[in-house]
Amino acid sequence: MSGCCGPTAVELEPSRQAAQPGDLPTVVIGAGPVGLAAAAHLTERGLDFVVLEAGEQAGASVSQWGHVRVFSPYRYNIDAAARRLLEADGWSAPDPDWLPTGAELIDDYLAPLAKLFGDKVRLGAKVSVISRLGYDRVRTAGRDDAPFLIRLADGTELTARAIIDASGTYTSPNVLGASGLPAHGEHEVVVDHALPDVLGADRDRYEGKRVLVVGAGHSAATTLLALTELDDTPITWAIRAGDAARTYGGGEADALPARGALGTRLRAHVASGRIQLLTGFFTHRVHATGQGVEVVSRDPSGREQSVTVDRIVSATGYRPDHSIASELRLDLDPVLGSTRALAPLIDPNQHSCGTVPAHGVDELAHPEPGYYAVGVKSYGRAPTFLMATGYEQVRSVVAALAGDWEAARDVQLDLPETGVCSSNLAEAQEQRVGLATGISGGLLSAPLPLATVSAGDGGCCG
Ligand SMILES: Cc1cc2nc3c(=O)[nH]c(=O)nc-3n(C[C@H](O)[C@H](O)[C@H](O)COP(=O)(O)OP(=O)(O)OC[C@H]3O[C@@H](n4cnc5c(N)ncnc54)[C@H](O)[C@@H]3O)c2cc1C
Repeated sequence: MSGCCGPTAVELEPSRQAAQPGDLPTVVIGAGPVGLAAAAHLTERGLDFVVLEAGEQAGASVSQWGHVRVFSPYRYNIDAAARRLLEADGWSAPDPDWLPTGAELIDDYLAPLAKLFGDKVRLGAKVSVISRLGYDRVRTAGRDDAPFLIRLADGTELTARAIIDASGTYTSPNVLGASGLPAHGEHEVVVDHALPDVLGADRDRYEGKRVLVVGAGHSAATTLLALTELDDTPITWAIRAGDAARTYGGGEADALPARGALGTRLRAHVASGRIQLLTGFFTHRVHATGQGVEVVSRDPSGREQSVTVDRIVSATGYRPDHSIASELRLDLDPVLGSTRALAPLIDPNQHSCGTVPAHGVDELAHPEPGYYAVGVKSYGRAPTFLMATGYEQVRSVVAALAGDWEAARDVQLDLPETGVCSSNLAEAQEQRVGLATGISGGLLSAPLPLATVSAGDGGCCG
């Protein structure tokens, strides 16, 4: 391989060129929690593998929200195979009831796990496209026996017997535009990614500024509450819906106590005027003016409203980027962008994160044998994903790759709805460190209302 100025070199790694597909490694794309869990299961099964990670560290996407505290305790965030390998190496598991921040998840779990795999985890290795060696999407005869071809951003190519794509969705956020298309001018102004570290590293970017937060999910609520802690910082919150009932959740009756508490606090700030809520806001146009950035909404009837701010935080969710696999034969659900078999099991209209049933290789299979999108990417636009579900996915997929179909199809998931997405654990920790959904540092000066746990609705992290 040569070349220093971009993807000019195209060369198969010599040792892989003549190999038969069965002798090739499985390539795992992404060293997040689920990609590394896949590596652990491949290790236990004695299957050769390589993990390709675009970032410069394990958990590169998690590190982007390192200041956010998750809502599921460690007992659900550690994969079983990973735990066995780590414990055999002398690792001590963290407190199973602790709700870690993203940074703690990396330091206490993901980084030690990645270290176990040595140079099988390649950092700075961004996959740009995948295909079958010698086959475009149309060619069929002999296709299933052809190795996969993986091209990296630097032009390096590798071949593989199977691909486990755990590349996540964090790097492909939804746009600001209300119809799923970018708002006019959206790419010409600075729009901040969801969940900035408002009370930490990013404080100077927000304090004293007029800030607009767009989105109706958990991430928007988390950012809004953090912003209320800053002095001289006018906050505007824009949502498409006619009211914020969905974001407020069920208050004291919410299935997810941390979410309910978040909603209750948010409602109070809107009622007091600390946060200005703009409903029926369909972002249409964004442009810089002498006074700041004007954000214009145009609703379906053509009625316009606008707000001028200094900073915009887009918390409109994520979507999967299937473009790297566009030469493979994928069968995607037209709504969510998951596999069709998985879509009804994860539909956010029907399921909360705790009610998604166990699923594995059969629900994740595409017409392209040997390619599996797993982890949060497998859920497409559904915000109901949990690490624990992803761990069961990769256990099943790797068992199938090892030819152990009995184990592959014996999918199990222990996610009591009242135990995974917070419940009394969150309450207990809130007393110790702050709100379980990302805001730490003493925001909870008053005790939180107790919440009754009942059947849930909606997503977890959207
Ligand atoms: C703020 C927040 C809080 C959450 N809280 C919880 C919680 O409490 N409990 C829970 O179970 N889940 C939670 N989730 C959901 C989910 O479990 C996490 O998003 C989790 O990180 C998903 O793991 P993953 O391995 O599928 O993907 P990711 O963690 O997103 O990892 C994907 C990896 O792939 C890499 N990558 C991307 N593209 C490429 C490429 N082309 N080539 C090579 N590498 C690539 C990325 O750099 C990244 O390291 C939360 C999510 C967010 C955003």
